[in-house]
Amino acid sequence: ARKLGRDTWCHYTGDLGAAVSERMSISTDLQNAVQDNQLTLHYQPVVDGWTGAIVGYEALMRWYHPSHGFIPPNRFIPMAEESGQIVELTQWALDCAARAATRMNQGLPHDIYVAVNISTLVFRRTDFVERVTDVLKRHNIPARWLEIEITESMLLDDFASAIEKLRELGALGVRIALDDFGTGYSSLNYLKRLPIHKIKLDRSFVNDIVEDPADAAIARAVLAVAGLLKLTVIVEGVETERQFAFLKRLRFTQFQGYLFAKPLPLETVLASLLAASGY
Ligand code: C2E
Ligand code: CA
Ligand code: CA
Ligand code: CA
Repeated sequence: ARKLGRDTWCHYTGDLGAAVSERMSISTDLQNAVQDNQLTLHYQPVVDGWTGAIVGYEALMRWYHPSHGFIPPNRFIPMAEESGQIVELTQWALDCAARAATRMNQGLPHDIYVAVNISTLVFRRTDFVERVTDVLKRHNIPARWLEIEITESMLLDDFASAIEKLRELGALGVRIALDDFGTGYSSLNYLKRLPIHKIKLDRSFVNDIVEDPADAAIARAVLAVAGLLKLTVIVEGVETERQFAFLKRLRFTQFQGYLFAKPLPLETVLASLLAASGY
């Protein structure tokens, strides 16, 4: 029998389910997405709820596919993690965020940071700290302008080397936030050993916080522990005035959510910063 040539294999799609072949095509397309400028970062503010000041922005990836249209990060990030493409995407995001931070901080009276989400796979690479150092150097920006958001999952495998990396990043002056806090399992046990600066209270605790005494109790406990450990808390996913008022009564200070702003394109952010600065 004829050996299956590369061509035959490439064109064989017959038995693939629609979902699988769509996945494959999206993953292939992701390879061109960076070069073709289909990817962009949007920026969602983190606000001080007591002064109204914007303290920083979280960078969130957006992909406008030429034929599939908008593809949400919850769909393409996991694929990029599986294929390893997330490494390249994150490098691009760090560069983009550094450039954005430079523009945001032009003529502002106080510093504004841009936070980039870092996948476990990327964090675990031996050259991660070097990559971050390199971005800061190339863009010639102070380390405090660039923050990173990590999740608990990257601490599970090799806790000791994760801690070491976090220390190195901290020594550079890069601040680190633990994302989606409260959704893992051993949080409080290792929190005290983590050289991080912030935790982001997951929005699943915020949804029903006004009605659900259990959520309110958890939020209170997180705030108390964070206070003892001198960690800043950012509350994620604040959507209503009632949630905001309730959270302020619990004495939270930093907030993020649709109530304040959705993730926005850089140009929109720059225009609003300019307007707020009074020029
Ligand atoms: P995340 O890091 O937890 O980001 C917060 C998500 O909540 C964002 O969704 C944001 O748009 C959304 N959000 C913000 N405020 C509200 C609110 O008030 N209500 C509700 N319902 N949602 C709100 P998005 O942009 O779709 O991103 C989803 C996830 O994709 C992110 O969750 C993050 O895990 C991942 N992601 C996004 N960009 C990147 C990236 O550049 N790199 C990596 N590794 N992951 C990314
Ligand atoms: Ca995040
Ligand atoms: Ca989050
Ligand atoms: Ca998340």
